Amino acid sequence: MLAEFEDAKILAGGQSLMPMMNFRYVMPEHVIDINRIPEIAQIEETGEGIKFGAMVRHNQAKNSKGVVARCPLISHGLEFVAHIQIRNRGTIGGSVAHLDPSAEWPGLLAAHDAVMHVQSKGANRDVPIAEWSLGYMTPNIEEGEMLTGVSVTAWPAGHSYGFAELARRKGDFALAGAAVLLNFAGDKIDRAAIALIGVDTGPVRLPDAESLLKDECWSDALLEEAANKASVVSGLDDVHATAAYRQKIAVVMVRRALEQAVARYNGEAMAA
Ligand SMILES: Cc1cc2nc3c(=O)[nH]c(=O)nc-3n(C[C@H](O)[C@H](O)[C@H](O)COP(=O)(O)OP(=O)(O)OC[C@H]3O[C@@H](n4cnc5c(N)ncnc54)[C@H](O)[C@@H]3O)c2cc1C
Repeated sequence: MLAEFEDAKILAGGQSLMPMMNFRYVMPEHVIDINRIPEIAQIEETGEGIKFGAMVRHNQAKNSKGVVARCPLISHGLEFVAHIQIRNRGTIGGSVAHLDPSAEWPGLLAAHDAVMHVQSKGANRDVPIAEWSLGYMTPNIEEGEMLTGVSVTAWPAGHSYGFAELARRKGDFALAGAAVLLNFAGDKIDRAAIALIGVDTGPVRLPDAESLLKDECWSDALLEEAANKASVVSGLDDVHATAAYRQKIAVVMVRRALEQAVARYNGEAMAA
């Protein structure tokens, strides 16, 4: 149908498309409902990790035993998406196709180096998450293509994670947020992934901070130094916050997410 109809929009959970249609921001000639395609509504455990069908709902992923066990950062981070009614309808595919700069899914997927599976009538292609955002709310999807699924590689059993974001009210889109994965070898961090949301059009990884942490024993000073690397990201300037404010928040969010990950590894109780 995508190949057949001009000016067609896919309807997934409708939690972004319907408000945009109500406001007349988008006025498609055709709406193609993909809610009744069971093949793209499943969560599959693979040898490497998890494959999410595009129609997997936020809450379905959050509550999946496989996701909780193998990619706990994703399950935890999804608690920050909107409100329960929206999490029951909204989908991973809709979130990453809509690509709000502050959406949690893209940041959680960036920390996991996800691969997006895109399909058109005659072809399939895989897009690494690093190449997913082509600009403000512009995903790497061509006319006639749809996202069918997203694969993530799980980190080793026993890895730790943290997620922190600042939103004006609970359930609002974040001004900025950070998702962190840490793997430890004894007292040392042997692998780190840090992804920011809300500061650029797509999720941003912080490779300098990640390599600073690698093979080091954690300390408050080390976590602070790593978090300060977030200040190199220039930050979005909009009606909700200035770029300078988002930059400052990004640093604080990375530090909090790193602290959570270390505390979780040490079996310490987590602050709410
Ligand atoms: C009040 C409110 C608060 C919210 N707060 C948050 C929040 O804090 N964090 C957050 O992340 N999100 C938030 N959202 C958005 C919510 O997460 C949506 O579920 C999500 O952005 C879109 O998913 P959807 O499945 O509803 O997609 P839809 O609304 O159905 O579609 C969104 C867009 O993606 C396209 N699309 C959908 N599926 C595909 C596909 N498989 N392939 C190609 N294109 C596709 C559609 O054509 C459309 O352009 C909020 C929404 C509301 C209404």
